[in-house]
Amino acid sequence: MGREAAIKAQVKGFLIPIFVERDVDTGEVIRSGLGPEDFEKVRSGYACARCLAIFDTYTITCPACGLVREWEADIPGAPELWLAHLREQAQEEPTPRSARSFDEAMKAKLAGDEMEKIPVRKLRRRRR
Ligand SMILES: [Zn+2]
Repeated sequence: MGREAAIKAQVKGFLIPIFVERDVDTGEVIRSGLGPEDFEKVRSGYACARCLAIFDTYTITCPACGLVREWEADIPGAPELWLAHLREQAQEEPTPRSARSFDEAMKAKLAGDEMEKIPVRKLRRRRR
């Protein structure tokens, strides 16, 4: 199968990262920060760690960018700066460095967003 055909057959789309760190000179993506679900796709082999292509099946070699999955290698954790930003958004108490994984920080952020929602019943208080 040619490269183009392989991409069409296997790539469903691309993940959208929450953070992107680029090389200042080349503009090349150095690393991306993904939400828990997207990170899980990369971890389990259903998305590319480099170009973030989403695959329809477990894929070893990314047809879009050619990255070969090193399934024994650890996926690096998120930089502390990103975690700090997520914690800040979640308005949490500061936690010791590296105490939380990126996934945990994201879940906390999402939980924080949930808490900010005002229940409908509070908005529709009836007058007596
Ligand atoms: Zn790729």
